[in-house]
Amino acid sequence: MTASTQVQEKLSRLGIDTELDLILHLPIRYEDETHLFPIADAPPGQTVQVEGIIIHNEVVFRPRRQLVCQVEDNSGVLVMRFLNFYGSQIKTYAVGKRVRLLGEIRSGFFGAEMVHPKCRIVRDGESLADTMTPIYPTTAGLTQKILAKLIAQALQNGQHMLTETVPDRIIGKYRLADFRESVMCLHNPPPEVSIEALQTRTHPAWRRIKFDELLAQQLSMRLHYRQRRSHSAPALAQKDNLKQQFLAQLNFALTTAQIRVSAEISRDLASAYPMQRLLQGDVGSGKTIVAALAALQAIENGYQAAIMAPTEILAEQHFQKLTSWFEPLGIKVAWLSSSQKKKEKQAVLDDIASGAAQLAAGTHALFQDQVIFHRLGLAIIDEQHRFGVHQRLALRMKGAQSDQVPHQLMMSATPIPRTLSMSYFADLDVSVIDELPPGRSPVVTKLIADNRRDEVIARIQHACEQGKQVYWVCPLIEESEVLQLQTALETCESLNQVFPHLRIGLVHGRLPAQEKAAMMAAFKQGEIQLLVATTVIEVGVDVPNASLMVIENAERMGLSQLHQLRGRVGRGSEASICILLFQQPLSEIARKRLKIIFEHTDGFEIARQDLNLRGPGEFLGARQSGVPMLRFANLEQDVELLTAAQAAAEEMLNCHPDLAQRHIERWLGDKTEYLRV
Ligand code: ADP
Ligand code: MG
Repeated sequence: MTASTQVQEKLSRLGIDTELDLILHLPIRYEDETHLFPIADAPPGQTVQVEGIIIHNEVVFRPRRQLVCQVEDNSGVLVMRFLNFYGSQIKTYAVGKRVRLLGEIRSGFFGAEMVHPKCRIVRDGESLADTMTPIYPTTAGLTQKILAKLIAQALQNGQHMLTETVPDRIIGKYRLADFRESVMCLHNPPPEVSIEALQTRTHPAWRRIKFDELLAQQLSMRLHYRQRRSHSAPALAQKDNLKQQFLAQLNFALTTAQIRVSAEISRDLASAYPMQRLLQGDVGSGKTIVAALAALQAIENGYQAAIMAPTEILAEQHFQKLTSWFEPLGIKVAWLSSSQKKKEKQAVLDDIASGAAQLAAGTHALFQDQVIFHRLGLAIIDEQHRFGVHQRLALRMKGAQSDQVPHQLMMSATPIPRTLSMSYFADLDVSVIDELPPGRSPVVTKLIADNRRDEVIARIQHACEQGKQVYWVCPLIEESEVLQLQTALETCESLNQVFPHLRIGLVHGRLPAQEKAAMMAAFKQGEIQLLVATTVIEVGVDVPNASLMVIENAERMGLSQLHQLRGRVGRGSEASICILLFQQPLSEIARKRLKIIFEHTDGFEIARQDLNLRGPGEFLGARQSGVPMLRFANLEQDVELLTAAQAAAEEMLNCHPDLAQRHIERWLGDKTEYLRV
């Protein structure tokens, strides 16, 4: 590239480092300077170009200093208004000058007007642009003009980089436009092209680019998937002895969905390739048992299993549940947390290292350096979206021994919408529990404005009198942990005053782990009737007798958080209620969120709407780091292309690996070194 260092720095900020990057830096929109509208006929509300003579020029001070000119053509007069302007502009736009304006016409107080149009002086009869003007995404200090010039240069020098990478058969099958022509057309669209088709990205040229982008993503994901299969993992044979004993001691039967996903996992574990499976299931769908069955398969083969949870409360709960299930089978379960005393911890570490502990449950403490497994065969990660890529990688690498890596099972109650799992998660195998255990009654959600608190108080009183238990979730204060704590303490205090006869407990993030665990145990055993909690209870907590939940300031919370919280009730056979208290006035987005959570209980539908509301960037959270985001394709609108790209990727990897490689290099370049987990 022939650009100054200064310019190069700015280009870098846009992700442009090479000539090819410039070529693939496509416009975000277009301006149509290919023809002129008569002032009187120009359609309002869209960007149009008009031309006329300045017949009036004045600086006015109502309400603040502005430059107002009148421009006239054969058909009428237009006011142009500049709120910020240089002194020199007053002279430039002198009466009698011919100007060409590009902007949106609105009807103002003095008739039709354009505010801050793009305006330049022209000669009479000056020729019009013969292609639509592309407007590129840019950054401060880098003008459209410079950027357009660099791109034009790159297009001239870089024609050899635009050769076809997609095999003819695929081009024909999906009726794809030519790649080179598409790129050229998007940078310099000829005037006959519909500007509408360009702006909405429905033009065949856009379709081609979006397909190619999705194809590159699919190719790299599938390649990564195949690479993983070049490693080996312990083949954990399906022995049904422990499994049968375990199932026999449960007082319920597995759901069809649990049986199905368990079989999928079991098959993976039995193969000599490292499993990387994502188990998705709505809150309460019973993922823990599925994890337990997987762990048993490892243990039965003489390997260890580890289960990692994002919070102490959840990890401890897993520990307790798994101990109660596994101890009768003669299996030793260890518990590791960062808050353990040194001596206690050392004993646990010894058990893990010697293999005496067959299952280890814990928080991120599990993948710290001192933890050495005897023979780790399976790493289970609960609520995987809470962990970063590095943490998951660290746990997997823990057990890596003589070029064998352990299997990995990730679980998530934040359902990933289908389009996302087809794209950003295409390197994982996915199992879905799409059925809740029987006998659950759906949770009824109520939206209640904060000024009707009294009604809520009465409900709590009533529920507790009937022997039910209640969660009260404190307002979320993300900015400050101190404030969050203070709020929780105050909430608990005031609820104690309102309900002097209820046994009330409090859990929050700052509570020492042991006290937290003791409090949860007391709640589980029914000693506590009303549990005041911060969002630490958001994930995984399971107390079936709790059938009423109140969430304060629900308008501050995100959709998946609300869904997770609500999932804490409705776990028993009792009809459950979740009350969302909200503070008025509601912002537009908060109103939308509350409407969605009110109308839907299906986590997948909520996730889909959440994706719509926020776009994939935020949704992906931790996975986002290192994953190149799609720039052109839109997962909601381009499902058809995504499906096509998926099939095409498989075909290319099988029949045209060289083209596949070139295609990945074109689109991802050196950005392919990601997603190692
Ligand atoms: P999640 O998928 O949210 O992690 P859990 O594994 O915590 O769900 O299960 C929620 C509750 O449902 C637990 O109390 C669990 O024992 C119970 N459960 C799980 N599977 C079944 C089943 N097949 N029948 C009845 N209850 C079940
Ligand atoms: Mg769970």
